[in-house]
Formats: sequence, C-alpha cells, structure tokens
Amino acid sequence: AASSWANVPQGPPVRITEAFKADTFNKKINLGVGAYRDDTGKPYVLPSVRQAEEKVISSRLNKEYAGITGVPEFTKAAAVLAYGKESSALDRLAITQSISGTGALRIGGAFLARFFPGAKKIYIPTPSWANHAAVFKDSGLEVEKYAYYNKDTIGLDFEGMLKDIKAAPNGSAFLFHACAHNPTGVDPTPEQWKEIEAAVKAKGHFAFFDMAYQGFASGDIHKDAFAVRHFVAQGHNIALSQSFAKNMGLYGERIGAFSIVCENAEEKARVDSQIKILVRPMYSNPPIHGARIAAEILNTPALYDQWLVEVKEMADRIITMRALLKDNLEKLGSKHDWSHITSQIGMFAYTGLTPEQMDKLAKEHSVYATKDGRISVAGITSENVGRLAEAIFAVKG
Ligand code: PMP
Repeated sequence: AASSWANVPQGPPVRITEAFKADTFNKKINLGVGAYRDDTGKPYVLPSVRQAEEKVISSRLNKEYAGITGVPEFTKAAAVLAYGKESSALDRLAITQSISGTGALRIGGAFLARFFPGAKKIYIPTPSWANHAAVFKDSGLEVEKYAYYNKDTIGLDFEGMLKDIKAAPNGSAFLFHACAHNPTGVDPTPEQWKEIEAAVKAKGHFAFFDMAYQGFASGDIHKDAFAVRHFVAQGHNIALSQSFAKNMGLYGERIGAFSIVCENAEEKARVDSQIKILVRPMYSNPPIHGARIAAEILNTPALYDQWLVEVKEMADRIITMRALLKDNLEKLGSKHDWSHITSQIGMFAYTGLTPEQMDKLAKEHSVYATKDGRISVAGITSENVGRLAEAIFAVKG
C-alpha cells in the first residue's frame, strides 16, 4: 500500500549540535547550548534542587493527576516570585502550570487567538528567540516584528522600538522579553522600560511578557522582574510566561507557568475557566514532579534562601566569563570595542560576528555557535576562554 506520508517533505534540522558532535578535536567548544554549564563545562544540578527532590521523594506522595492547572502550591508560589508578594495582581491572577516556558507561551498564544479583542496578531522583537514566531503561528496568531536590535551599536534600537510601538494599531498585542533578551542579551534599562510602558499605555496595547530568566540574568530576582512589576504597577493587565528551566536548572522537568492579570475576581474566574478549556484537549494536565520540586524550594524558607544564593552564583559565573572574554580579546590586542560583551546580560552574547566569521570559527577553530553571531556564555569556562578569545581574534581581529 502507498504510504500516507509520501508527500511529507524533509524539514530542516531544528537544532545545531550535529556539527559539534561530529568534530573529533578534543578542545572543541560548544557555544550553541541553551543550558547552563559549570566552570568545568558540565551540566549543573543545583544543590537546592537535589535537596528539594530528596524531600519530595522521601514524602512518598502518590502519583495521582494534578488538576488541569497543575499543582496549586507551585502556581501560588510562582506568582509571588514573579509579581512580588505585595503585588495587587495576586488575588486577580488567572494562573496555570505549564510545560515550561514554551508551553506557557503556547497557552498564551492560544488564549489570545481565541479571545484577544484586537487583531489576532502579536508583535515580537527583531530578532527574537527563534521559537517565538513558530509557537505563536502554531497558536493561530499572525506574527509581526518590531525594531529592537541595532547592529551598528550592538545595542538596543530604542528609538526604533518606540516608533514601532507607536505605529502599531491601537490595542495591539506586544511580546516583551522581561529580562536577558534572547538572542541578543540586550535589555532596556529601567528608565527605558518606563518610556516603553508609557508608549504601550498611550496606545492601549496589550503586553505579554516572556520571563525565562528571572534571577538568572542579574542574580537578583527582583531586579530581573522590574519590567513585569512596573507594567503591573502602572495598571497593565499583562500576560506572563514563566520558566524554571534556567533559574532552577529544571530544564527537562518542563516546569513553568502562564498567567493573566485580570481586572477583578469575577473576570479571573471567567479567564480561569477558559484556560482550563484550552489546556484540557492539549495535554489534559501537567507533569507533577518538577512542580513539586519547585514548590518545595519556593515554599521552604531555608531552601528558598539557598536557591537565591545558587541562582546568583550561576549569574555571577556568566558575568565573570563575559569579563574574561573581553579581557582576553583586549590582551591579544584586538582594537574592536568589546564592551557589548559585558553590557549584555543573560546566557547569550551577541558578538557582532558575521555568518562568514562564525563559519570560520567552526571550521578552523572548532568553536560552534549559531550563524547569527550568538554565543552561549554558559559554554565558556576559565579553561577554554583563552582559546576562544584567540579564535575570535583570529577571525575578526
Ligand atoms: N523564552 C525564551 C526567551 C527562551 O530563551 C526560552 C529558552 N530557551 C524559553 C522561552 C523557553 O524555554 P523552556 O520551554 O525550556 O522553559
């Protein structure tokens, strides 16, 4: 019988680790990884996570299903972490556990596609995390771009961003990276966020925040939540995607949350009911293990304090590697201005290298990253930073 899938075309590879794997050089460097590595280049499980997990296991809980919106001890604590414990949003917040940040964005996309009163369209920054456009399109939204990155300054195109916010039809939906913009590492300053908020408010736009790196960016969970909390304080009923992949290192546990700030408790009840109706046919209910671990950390004061220290250690290691890379390039005599390496924030740095230079890095120096010049700072260690700087100096000068 003829195959049903004879017409399925071969798709392009979704990830880029293949070339790295195939390289046999023992000092090859993988800067494509989207996950934290310790200073020996190894994946890292936070000690607070190990402890929380042991506590969860020793409690010998059953494996019954969670409700559609997940483990309540988790979602309540996740909301406090994001919005702050004094936030006026907490008692009018519709929130659901999600399959990490991606799943949160997917629920949000589907909710907007079904209920957003304006055009079924979302504006995302140029560039943005590559999956944003895919997730929102698959959710049934049209995707438009707003200016964000200025390749001449390797910094924020603040004027362009404001211009595009003002040019969009009133009442449009905008996606913002709450902190540690991926892929550029370029964030607005608090002062710039205030202007962005004012522009969004003046146009009656709707703000959807993707917060995948709270605490992981600066090492301070409050500082990283500035934009989210500022918008809420200014009266925006935002939507928010949260991920615990990076800040708790719970990547494969797939733990996150999606929330919408509502006008009041009555609206919250309606929105809650529709989130359940959306989630039920997608995956019925979320996995429980990661939620229990995260809840244990967030709700146990001693573990919570320990986690704050550990998340800061990760952020600090990243910040240190940025400084070391810049120092090494300068010591080699590079005449370029590398200050963007240290002014950018989060897991990724935009080097400003061209696709051709990135190609050379891979072929001639066994340094692998994406063609857009983005490197994962998490892949840099005290040991490989010297060789990395030499490679970048060799291809760019
Ligand atoms: N948003 C952004 C900006 C990200 O960088 C990531 C992770 N790469 C995510 C969302 C979602 O990741 P996850 O689904 O693993 O939480």
